[in-house]
Amino acid sequence: MMSDARASEHTSAAASSAPLSISSTNVLPFLDISPDALVIVNPAGTIVMVNRQTEAVFGYARTELLGQQLELLLPQRLRAVHIDHREQYFSSPHTRPMGIGLKLVGRRKDGTEFPVEISLNPLLLDDVLHVIGAVRDMTAQRIAEHEHLQQLEQIRLQAELINLAHDAILVRDPVSRVISWNKGAEELYGWTVQEAQGRVTHSLLKTRFPSSRADVDAHLEHEGKWEGELTHTRRDGSSVIVESRQMLVRDEEGHTIAILEINRDITERRHLEQTEQVVHAETVARLAFLQQVIDALPSSVYLVYGTDARLLLANRAASSVWGAEWQVDQPMLEFLTRNGIEITDAQGRPLPPSQFATLRGVQRGETVLQQQELIRRPGGSSLPVLVNAVALPAQRRWSGPLQETEQQMPVGEAMALVMHQDVTALKEAEYLKDEFVGIVAHELRTPLAALKGFADMLLVQTARGRGVALAEWQQEALEEIELATTRLVKLTEELLDVTHLQAGRLHLQRTPTNMVPLAQRVVTLLQQTTTRHRLEVRTTQPELLADIDPGRIEQVLTNLIGNAIKYSPQGGPVTITIWEETAARIVGISVQDRGIGIPRRQHAQIFGRFMRADNAQAWGISGTGLGLYICRELVERHGGLLWFESEEDAGSTFFVTLPLVSARQGDHEVPS
Ligand code: ADP
Repeated sequence: MMSDARASEHTSAAASSAPLSISSTNVLPFLDISPDALVIVNPAGTIVMVNRQTEAVFGYARTELLGQQLELLLPQRLRAVHIDHREQYFSSPHTRPMGIGLKLVGRRKDGTEFPVEISLNPLLLDDVLHVIGAVRDMTAQRIAEHEHLQQLEQIRLQAELINLAHDAILVRDPVSRVISWNKGAEELYGWTVQEAQGRVTHSLLKTRFPSSRADVDAHLEHEGKWEGELTHTRRDGSSVIVESRQMLVRDEEGHTIAILEINRDITERRHLEQTEQVVHAETVARLAFLQQVIDALPSSVYLVYGTDARLLLANRAASSVWGAEWQVDQPMLEFLTRNGIEITDAQGRPLPPSQFATLRGVQRGETVLQQQELIRRPGGSSLPVLVNAVALPAQRRWSGPLQETEQQMPVGEAMALVMHQDVTALKEAEYLKDEFVGIVAHELRTPLAALKGFADMLLVQTARGRGVALAEWQQEALEEIELATTRLVKLTEELLDVTHLQAGRLHLQRTPTNMVPLAQRVVTLLQQTTTRHRLEVRTTQPELLADIDPGRIEQVLTNLIGNAIKYSPQGGPVTITIWEETAARIVGISVQDRGIGIPRRQHAQIFGRFMRADNAQAWGISGTGLGLYICRELVERHGGLLWFESEEDAGSTFFVTLPLVSARQGDHEVPS
């Protein structure tokens, strides 16, 4: 009863023999030695003896306890049951050791309850059967037990967490034998925890180190941790690349006790990176090759993207065409303005940017073929070019090095491939041809005028009875000569106009002109040439001032009304309508006939040079195919438009619009 060990020794001894017999005087001095509260009760359940520890544990003074029922030390609710238990015990007393799993509760004097463990021993005190109970306050132990359980639970959760991880988490001892191996490791390597346990990781996984195992071990030893890539072999023989983090755990004396290791599978990531590198290298090589190919081309070639046509790629010839270096990523208009480059149409008229072949390609996705443009370069020189712009489908992804820099093609932007063909030589040849035609036409004028003049004279004077009368065949021959020379004169005039238009040497003498009398004049003149046609001018306005070159517009109307007559061989009405479009500040003129019309399939070409419709030739109507070309050029140079509607065998209507004189201009100038 001196200590737990001795007490249990004692009680087990007592269990097999008769109860210990002792006198009350002998027992007293020993009771206080016990760390437990000792209470001796008689068969009536009265406390006859307690030790000092009992006083401390229950908060009663010894005198308050002696003579009291043992149940005083129990909570009220348990007392009745306890009395039964006690009486039963006295009827067959035996040794009951502590910690047999009963949840026992004690009650202090202040009413508070606390967990206890009790061992019971029968005892013959002064030859009377008593029971000595050792009561141990279990409060601290229960708290400790509870904490211990909590710790265990925490460890269990942590272990589950470790198992939940996809990473392989393992612990190995200082000689690299597996101590712990989570589910992630099982899944990654294919070895179960039972199979892996105790195996040396480096041979189990055939580890391949970045440099050497010694290096990694040395680093671990020195730094306490290591991070890097390892290649392992799975159970099925396949390789896996892992990102490994390792940490050394040491005991208090600094000896290594374990190495914690977390390995993450990065095989796929590495493969993707490698593939990407290969693809990238291929793209770079392909682009470099492409660059070489396009550099070898004599024509300028460049690739632009985005609606502002930023440069992506250009060949060497492009720089010489522009006469300046277009920087990668620079928008086209910025490049042009910075370098003072202008783009005009073939005749040198300013071209709005929306009409540039390049911008049409990227902004409207159009494919522009053979557009004539003139590039005025920084030095002042001009270069006539034929531009082909091919709209390309927006790229999903594009990357490549350009001029040593890495260029990332923005996804989903419009692209266009543009080629310039220098047509200086062609232009020169054309110029020479026009010059030649111009000279010939010019030189033909005088002899033709003489021919026509003399033929006219012969016819007129003979008709007046001057000289001898002509035979019929002579008269006919002269009329033929007169007709042919008239046609020749017209042809030379038209050829001269065409060459002047081509060379940009046709200048307009604009003046505010009343369109109504002008049209009327032309109609009156032409009406004299025909009896089968009825020419009529319709208008509600007596005066419509247009800002035009009257000579040139007269030429246009003469041509259109002349055609209306010419291409209505069976006669009929020819209606000229003049109206004003106030809002648009234009005057409109239409010339309508009921003639042979123009076949639909030839509508698109009819304004071309030397272009004649099949039906006109079939009807045997003579012409040069130059008139409409000249008319459209003249009208457009006035800022107007010329177009037509026509149906074969039903007739045609040609429409002209011309700018009206602005209010102020009209106020100050006199109409012609
Ligand atoms: P030309 O009359 O000298 O042939 P144009 O340039 O004036 O040349 O006209 C071109 C062609 O357009 C004509 O050859 C003819 O086929 C067609 N054309 C022009 N005007 C008319 C019209 N009013 N009706 C039918 N066809 C026409």
